[in-house]
Amino acid sequence: MKTLRLILGDQLNSKHSWFKGDQSNFVYCLFEMRQETDNVKHHIQKVVGFFAAMQEFSDHLQSQGCELVYYTLDHKDNTQSLTENLKQLIEKHTISTFEFQEPDEYRLDQQLLEFCKTLSIHSECFSTEHFYTKRQDLGTFFKDKKQWLMENFYRDMRKKHDVLMVANQPEGGKWNYDKSNRNKWKEKESIPEFKTFKNEVSNIKRTIASQNIETIGHFNTEYFEYPINRSQALEQLKYFCEHLLIHFGDYQDAMHTEQVYLFHSRLSFAMNCKIISPKAIITTVLNYWRKHGEHINISQVEGFIRQIIGWREYMRGMYWALMPEYKSLNYLENKNNLPAFFWTGDTKMICLKSAINNSLDKGYAHHIQRLMITGNFALLTQINPDQVDAWYLGIYVDAVEWVQLPNTRGMSQFADGGKIATKPYVSSGSYINKMSNYCDDCYYNKKEKIGDKACPFNSLYWNFLDDKREKLSSIFRMKMMYSLLNKMSAEDLYNIKTRAKDIIKNPDFF
Ligand code: FAD
Ligand code: SF4
Repeated sequence: MKTLRLILGDQLNSKHSWFKGDQSNFVYCLFEMRQETDNVKHHIQKVVGFFAAMQEFSDHLQSQGCELVYYTLDHKDNTQSLTENLKQLIEKHTISTFEFQEPDEYRLDQQLLEFCKTLSIHSECFSTEHFYTKRQDLGTFFKDKKQWLMENFYRDMRKKHDVLMVANQPEGGKWNYDKSNRNKWKEKESIPEFKTFKNEVSNIKRTIASQNIETIGHFNTEYFEYPINRSQALEQLKYFCEHLLIHFGDYQDAMHTEQVYLFHSRLSFAMNCKIISPKAIITTVLNYWRKHGEHINISQVEGFIRQIIGWREYMRGMYWALMPEYKSLNYLENKNNLPAFFWTGDTKMICLKSAINNSLDKGYAHHIQRLMITGNFALLTQINPDQVDAWYLGIYVDAVEWVQLPNTRGMSQFADGGKIATKPYVSSGSYINKMSNYCDDCYYNKKEKIGDKACPFNSLYWNFLDDKREKLSSIFRMKMMYSLLNKMSAEDLYNIKTRAKDIIKNPDFF
C-alpha cells in the first residue's frame, strides 16, 4: 500500500522535505491539464514554460529514484481533470493515503478540499515550504487595523526575519529608499545584455498545437528563455547580483522603448513555480552585497528586498485574507471593454505599444509598465475589472492568480476601494514622460489635453477624476488633484471630457 503525492505545476520545490529520506513508499504525480490551460487564454510562452519546468522537475525526481506518474497533455490516460486523474491513480496503484501541498490558488484549494471529502482513504495537506509567511499570517497581523498598509507589514517582516537590521534598527538608518528608486534611464549607464537560457521546447510546442490549445502572444525564439530548473534559477540570480543589482533600485521605475528588462531580475517565473525560494534569493543577494558589494548602495539592495519580503508576501497574504469575495469587487463600477489593441499592440500611443509588445513578445513587462501604462490606461478608460484580470492572468509568464489578482484588481484598478492602494494609480502623460523616452517620438503631444493630437492620457485623467468624484474626492491623497480639478473652468472641463469620451468610445482609433 502506497501514498500518492500530488505536485501541482507551480509546486516545483526540489528542496521540499517530501524529498528527504526513503522514497520507496511514495508515488508522485504531475499532470499537464486542459483544466489549467483553458481557464483563461494564456500566453504561449507561459504554457510552454510551465510544462517545460514540470518536465524538468519530473526528470529530476526520477533521477533521484522517486516513482512518478507524469501525464503530458496528450497522454492516453489523461482525463484533463485533476480530480479524475487522481481517482484513476488511487485505484490503479491501490493507494492508501493521498497527500498534497497547499495550493496557492483558491479555485484549486476548493477543488482539492472537496475531493478529499469524497475519499475513503486518509488524506493530508502539507505546506509548500516556499513562502516566509503562512496563508493567514497577514490577516492576523492586520486584525482590527483600519488600513492594511504594506509598509507596516514590510517593517515587521524585516524585524521578524532579521533582514537588513542592526540592533533592531533598519540598516543604513532608513526603512525605505523608495524616493531614490525613481530615476529615468538616460542611457548613461549601459544595461548588461539580458541572460537567456536555451531551453529546447519544440516537442511541447507541437503537443500544444496538436491539442488545439488556444493561446495568446508570440513565440519568435527557438528556445524558452527564462529559467526552468534550480540550477538555471541560481545562474540567473548570480547574474542579477553581479550585473544588475548595482542599478536595480535606481531604475526600478524607468521605461525605455529599446529596453525590455533594464535592471530587473526576471526571477518571477522561477519563483512562482517555486523552483527557487524567496529566502534563497534574499540570502544570496545579501551575502553577495556584504562580500563584494562595497560599490553597491544600500538603496539598490533594500529596493529589491522590499519587492520580495514586502510586496510579494503582502500580496499573497491579502489574497488569502480577502478571497473569494475579492475576485468580484468592482468599487468604481467600471463596465467598458478592453480595447482590441491589448492583443495586438496596434496603437499609435508609443507607451502602450511598447508595453504591450514586450508582453506579447516576451510574456514580460516590468512592474511600472504593468501599473502605469497598461493598468493606468485600463483604469482611466474604466474597463470592467474582470476583463482586466483575464488579460493580466493570461499575458505574463509569471502570472498566477494569488499574485496577479491583488496586483491587478487591487493595486492597479482600485476595484477593492482602497484595501491595497491608498489612492488609485492613475496619471496623465506627464508622469509617463518623466519616467521614459516614450513620448519623444509619439504621434501624440504629451503637453496637449484637447485636439486630435493631444496625448489621450491627459484628457482621460481629468475625465476619470470628474466621473469618479463621489467615490474618490474624499481620499486624503487625492485632495490636491481635486482642488486643481475644481479650479478648472466649465468650458475647459467640457472640452476635456468631450475628448475623453471620444477616446473611451473608440480607443482602438487612438
Ligand atoms: P523585479 O523587478 O526584478 O522584482 C523582483 C521580484 O519582486 C519579482 O520577481 C517579484 O517576485 C517581486 N515583486 C515585485 N513587485 C511585486 C508585486 N507588486 N507583487 C508581488 N511581487 C512583486 N507579479 C507576478 O509575479 N505575477 C503576476 O501575475 C503579476 N501581475 C501583476 C499585475 C499588475 C497589474 C502589476 C502592477 C504587477 C504585477 N506583478 C506580478 C508584480 C511585478 O510586476 C512582477 O512581479 C515583476 O514585474 C516580475 O519581473 P521581475 O522578476 O524582473 O521583477
Ligand atoms: Fe503615451 Fe501620451 Fe507619451 Fe504618447 S504622448 S507616449 S500616448 S504618454
